[in-house]
Amino acid sequence: MSNYLVMKFGGTSVGSSERIGEVAKRVVRQVKKHGDKVVVVVSAMSGETNRLIELARKVAGDGYKAREYHQLVTAGEQVSVALTAMAIEREGLPAQSLLAHQIPIKTNTVFGQNLISEIPVDKLKSLLDRGIVPVVAGFQGVNDSLEYTTLGRGGSDTTAVAVAAALDSCRCVILTDVDGVYTALPSICKKARKLKALTYEEMLELASSGAKVLQTRSVSLASKFKVPTLVCSSFSDAAGTEIVEEYEGMEDAVVSGITCRTDEAKITLRNLPDQPGVAARIFKVLGDAEVVVDMIVQSEGSSGRAAISFTCAQEFSKVAYDAMLKLIQQEMSESSIELDTNIAKLSVVGEGMRTHAGVAYKVFEVLGEEGINVDMITTSEIKISVAIEEKYSELAVRVLHERFIERPES
Ligand code: ADP
Ligand code: ASP
Ligand code: MG
Repeated sequence: MSNYLVMKFGGTSVGSSERIGEVAKRVVRQVKKHGDKVVVVVSAMSGETNRLIELARKVAGDGYKAREYHQLVTAGEQVSVALTAMAIEREGLPAQSLLAHQIPIKTNTVFGQNLISEIPVDKLKSLLDRGIVPVVAGFQGVNDSLEYTTLGRGGSDTTAVAVAAALDSCRCVILTDVDGVYTALPSICKKARKLKALTYEEMLELASSGAKVLQTRSVSLASKFKVPTLVCSSFSDAAGTEIVEEYEGMEDAVVSGITCRTDEAKITLRNLPDQPGVAARIFKVLGDAEVVVDMIVQSEGSSGRAAISFTCAQEFSKVAYDAMLKLIQQEMSESSIELDTNIAKLSVVGEGMRTHAGVAYKVFEVLGEEGINVDMITTSEIKISVAIEEKYSELAVRVLHERFIERPES
């Protein structure tokens, strides 16, 4: 087994010159003490990507081209890789920073949430074989025309896992500003506790439901290529959370984590003709407008009319609303449309749900006792998600946490 290791440091972890110095010490320690062949992946310094996006808005409103946007926002990582490589050299190991085109990390050609198509590893291996630490820019990709692309916000996690997947038997450590994955967001649930391990599937459900400690796509990749992944702190040596295929006792707890996201919006179409093909027409129009739909509920109205509600990311809700308004004006003139941005999506996730019945009942009971109305519901084998009014989101996380994690036997 090779001892390749990818160490990814997030924005806060490289947020200042002092922090970059600490990162360098940690990398050098890992190489010298454990003899690992370490590839470092870094994000932009904290706040930098937001600052660049804000600058674009100031100079161009919303009118800039995607190409220039990506050229701009990838600049944050260009700074942090070079500084990190310098700091590692100062600590006594040779290092070389690498931007996406210098590897190259190839992605498809659209600008936006790009998918990695290929990462050749010959350059990385050749540096490692010569004892040089490669420091790779996270978040960046290049397309076939050698234009910069990006992997979506938080995309350095995906760079790290993808590099690990491309190397043989490589482990991946995500070093961040928390010491692992918690049972709920620690800032809203004081009793949240750190998890020792999670399955890829649990982590995927948690990440896609709002636990932004890992970018969702990085978890999909880790799962697909079976990359052993550890989430831990760059500020301490505390043991982190292992993301693995299986762990001992993984079905003992019914619920492993509770998440909440408030960045979705709900669109409701009422008084729709209750006929075959209407839903297909609606979701075809949304697909054509590139709106990714999350939850869907259809209810039968009176006298042959129906209602459909769906949720999507708030950032796409205007596009979705406009596309739906046009559709009903042109083809379903008796129907009406409403947009609600005051919703929260709450999810309870756990491998134990595969073998324990009655979880949905308990979720509804706990929320009902607090007077919280459940608006929409979706489930998977290991997750139950509900849409509720946004103002109850933190309360709902705390009461569900108490019921499922603090008093699981009740
Ligand atoms: P980085 O800059 O290192 O990529 P992120 O801000 O992207 O860090 O991710 C770490 C953050 O994820 C934490 O500070 C925390 O606020 C948030 N987070 C959300 N859900 C969880 C959770 N369940 N456990 C731990 N952290 C979480
Ligand atoms: N710098 C990018 C962002 O802020 C990528 C990352 O931090 O992972 O989204
Ligand atoms: Mg992140």
